[in-house]
Amino acid sequence: MANTANEKNFFADVCKNFDSAAQFTAHPEGLLTQIKACNSVYRFQFPIRRGNGFEVIDAWRVEHSQHMNPTKGGIRYSDMVNEDEVMALAALMTYKCAIVNVPFGGAKGGICINPKNYTIGELENITRRYTTELIKKNFIGPGIDVPAPDYGTGEREMSWIADTYMTMNPGQLDALGCVTGKPIALHGIRGRKEATGRGVAYAIRECVSVAEDMAKIGLKAGLGDKRVIVQGLGNVGYHSAKFLAEFGATIVGLCEFEGAIYNENGFNIDEVFAHRKLTGSILGFPGAVEFKNSMEGLEQPCDILVPAALENQLTVENIRNIKAKIIAEGANGPTTPEAEEIFTEMRGIIIPDMYCNAGGVTVSYFEWLKNLSHVAFGRMENRYAENSNRNLINTLESLTGKSIPAEHRLMIVKGASELELVNSGLEDTMIHSYHEIRETLLSKAGVKTLRTAAFVGSIDKIAVSYMNLGVWP
Ligand code: GLU
Repeated sequence: MANTANEKNFFADVCKNFDSAAQFTAHPEGLLTQIKACNSVYRFQFPIRRGNGFEVIDAWRVEHSQHMNPTKGGIRYSDMVNEDEVMALAALMTYKCAIVNVPFGGAKGGICINPKNYTIGELENITRRYTTELIKKNFIGPGIDVPAPDYGTGEREMSWIADTYMTMNPGQLDALGCVTGKPIALHGIRGRKEATGRGVAYAIRECVSVAEDMAKIGLKAGLGDKRVIVQGLGNVGYHSAKFLAEFGATIVGLCEFEGAIYNENGFNIDEVFAHRKLTGSILGFPGAVEFKNSMEGLEQPCDILVPAALENQLTVENIRNIKAKIIAEGANGPTTPEAEEIFTEMRGIIIPDMYCNAGGVTVSYFEWLKNLSHVAFGRMENRYAENSNRNLINTLESLTGKSIPAEHRLMIVKGASELELVNSGLEDTMIHSYHEIRETLLSKAGVKTLRTAAFVGSIDKIAVSYMNLGVWP
């Protein structure tokens, strides 16, 4: 993958996209400037003991906007993390939450380490110290700022954060709501891990379901005949591929650090995943054409490309070689504004990151609600619903004299589980938001891309919040 995160001005790119959209709104210049600004940037360093000596760790937490509280966003562990990147990602979180109507401001954290170079004990030390530094400055808390997983972090790191926070805030009733993406055993929520990828798949399914939009780019409606290339086999890429295949698409290409593989007949994602786990590489997978240069994998024939790794992957250098008609941004910021302009001229559609990968934060919101209410979704009503449904069926059967087949009975009677409720809330959110964005695209003269339309909707919502707060007259 292109390792260009440090060479680009990512925050400026986000602001550029913001400005392109702001011209289609009627808000005063000062308010737009306030929305765009990163309100709080906390940069800190701390030492950890390593080997016989010490190492100084660089870390950040950025709260982009407090128009809603708490602020929300993941924590990234990568040796490419820098202040500009964390600011850009925090800003994207603000717009993302607004699009999917999740009542949070945006934030992001980052620690400049390659987690592969540290032992589990060292990672635990780093995570706990990072959390302590956030507590000292009031940069974490269920009503202040709520981190989550991002690139290089997962459930393990979230449980260390939760444990450190609870230790430092004994007796705080809502303490578990200080972080999301926790394991189930620590009051996480079912479906959070796969939520971003599942959301990406819903977003794509929704986009390709509109026959008239597909006709414009020479495609048929539906996922059944779609060939997909996915970049990144991490949590987002893996689950995007898995659910897209489940919805009927064919995964023809996969790209990772070590190279890319392609097979026009399609891959079983779990087989490729198992092969990589065993051999340490996707290369060597039976029956696939291979590319040692991973970026070549993105340029192979397909209908949909899902960059689900890092920012700045699709640039003026390679965008003209992309065969896909649809780019669905599983990652944050994978396409530069210049590349998007060219791709739009090529009559391609980009499903923008701030909507496309918003499934993660949507389910984080559900987890936070679960933590604040101290009860799992469905726990109170599940059995009640089952009993009511059973009574209804029994009554119908006795009134009509007919009996309902056992498998139908089971389906009708069953109350919803936490996972079913989470997935249905996520699906509803992704469907609703897609059509909201598309509506703006169709109704605002001059708006040419889904990204600009998404920004317009988002800016409008944030502006209303500022006005309701009385911050703006
Ligand atoms: N890191 C994820 C994102 O970029 C999730 C954030 C969250 O759940 O708060 O959207």
